[in-house]
Amino acid sequence: MKKVWLDAGHGGTDSGALGNNLREKDITLQLVLHARAYLEHNYSVDVQVTRSTDVFVSLSDRANRANAWGADIFVSMHINAGEGTGFETYRYPSQEGSQSSLLQKELHTEILPTMRKFGTIADRGLKTANYAVLRETNMPAVLSENLFIDTTADAEKLKNATFLREVGEAHARGIAKYLNLPSNGVTFYTIQSGDTFYSIAKKYNITVQQLQD
Ligand SMILES: [Zn+2]
Repeated sequence: MKKVWLDAGHGGTDSGALGNNLREKDITLQLVLHARAYLEHNYSVDVQVTRSTDVFVSLSDRANRANAWGADIFVSMHINAGEGTGFETYRYPSQEGSQSSLLQKELHTEILPTMRKFGTIADRGLKTANYAVLRETNMPAVLSENLFIDTTADAEKLKNATFLREVGEAHARGIAKYLNLPSNGVTFYTIQSGDTFYSIAKKYNITVQQLQD
């Protein structure tokens, strides 16, 4: 099974960026928990997180733990600050076509349109940076900066629980596309006129008992 490491930026004594009565560490945790739930609900995949509560973890520990676990990919979620606006993603400086660059493309093209269902979102682009968690991880790694906490219009979206869920789930879909994750086998079938337990079981090559269970 593929192994996905999800990294919620900051935590504990490190609040991350602050603004508009929001703390970066709270939002990044929400995004990660939504992404994990979506991955585990829809795919056959092994997910680990840096933190599932409000605790401090050093940058090197984040990378070291993902390396020790043998994660196939590492995705770190953050909220931007500095009075800009919009969405951007980062990979460690590497050529176009590297695995991190392919992961970055899948994430970026899944998350941005999802955000835009909630209004205008500036595309700040696919960028590179020498960030510790990108440099010290030894698998494809991407860091997302999900809007600006200190810009009012962005903060309004970050206060919307539905926005956070959808953005977290969009991270999960980008990950699933990059890793080509198999579905977890849960199939939804709409009952049609004339169906019987027997005909449906036969169609899916399972027993009537399995279907009824
Ligand atoms: Zn951050």
